[in-house]
Amino acid sequence: MVGAMKIVRSPKAMQRLAKEWRGAGVRVGFVPTMGFLHAGHVSLMEVARRRVGPKGIVVVSIYVNPTQFAPTEDLSKYPRDFARDRQLCTEAGVDVIFAPLDSDMYAGRGEGRYSTYVVEESLGRPMEGASRPTHFRGVTTVVAKLFNVVLPDVAVFGAKDWQQAAVIRRMVNDLNFPLQMVVAPTRREKDGLAMSSRNTYLNESERKQATVLIRSIRAVKARVASAGRGGLAAEVLKSEVAAMVAQEPAARLDYVEFFDGETLEAVAEVRRGAHMALAVFMGRTRLIDNGRV
Ligand code: AMP
Repeated sequence: MVGAMKIVRSPKAMQRLAKEWRGAGVRVGFVPTMGFLHAGHVSLMEVARRRVGPKGIVVVSIYVNPTQFAPTEDLSKYPRDFARDRQLCTEAGVDVIFAPLDSDMYAGRGEGRYSTYVVEESLGRPMEGASRPTHFRGVTTVVAKLFNVVLPDVAVFGAKDWQQAAVIRRMVNDLNFPLQMVVAPTRREKDGLAMSSRNTYLNESERKQATVLIRSIRAVKARVASAGRGGLAAEVLKSEVAAMVAQEPAARLDYVEFFDGETLEAVAEVRRGAHMALAVFMGRTRLIDNGRV
C-alpha cells in the first residue's frame, strides 16, 4: 500500500479496516510483537512484505499482552518505546501499527468480565510451558484475538521462539484459522546472541556472559557432528551444557532439552537434525535460544 503509515488503537476500527481489505481482495501480512522493536522484528516485517507483495498490506501489532506474564514476571518493567517503534515501522514500510489498550483487549479483566481463553494442550506443556505454566495460554489467547481482529492471510513469527511458533501453528490447524503461518530465522548480534527486547536488561558483564546460550548450541552441534550415526545421549549433552553454563558466574540454567523440531517430542539419542532449546537466567533476566544441532 502507498501512503502514510496508520496507527490504529481500537480493535473495532482495526477489524473494520481488515474487512475492507478482505472485501477488496488485498492480501494482509501480519507480524505480532510486544514492541521495543529490533532487527529481528524488522526481518519478520520484510518477510511479511515479500509474502503479500507491494500491493498488499503489512500490519504490525505492538501489544505487551498481560495474560502471558505470570504475576512474578516483568510485565510492568517490560521495555517500551513507542516513538522509536513507530520510526522503525515507517522505515520498514509497514502500513498499519495496531496498538490496542488493555482495556479494549480484555474488557473488565479482574472484574470477572473477560473469561475466554484458548489453550493448546500438548506442545505447550514442556520447556517454556513447564517453567511458565500460564504463559502459552496467554499467547494462544492473544494471538487468536489478534487473528480475529487483523484477519491476516499470512502471519509471520520468529524461530527465536521455536516452541511458541509450534504451539501457534497447532492452534491455527486445530481451530481452522484461514491463514498461512511463516516462521522466519533468528536474527543475532555479531557475537551470536539472539536479538531480544529483554537483552536491554543485561548489564555489561551479563551481556558478555549471555553468549553462553549460542556457544552451547554450537558446542553441541560440533559434538553431534563428530559423533557419527549413533548420536549422543541427551542426558550426557545436557550435563555438558549445564557445565558450560555453570562457568558463567551470572548464569543459571533453567532447562535444556533435545527434541524433534517438528513434533517437539523429546529424543533420548541426539543425532544430526535434532533440535535443542535452552533457557538461562542471566542475573534476573531470563533468556531463551534454540537451534538445529
Ligand atoms: P516479541 O516482541 O519478543 O514477542 O517477539 C515478536 C515476534 O518476533 C515473535 O514471533 C518472535 O519470535 C520474533 N522475534 C523475536 N526475536 C527475534 C529474533 N532475534 N529474530 C527473529 N525473530 C524474532
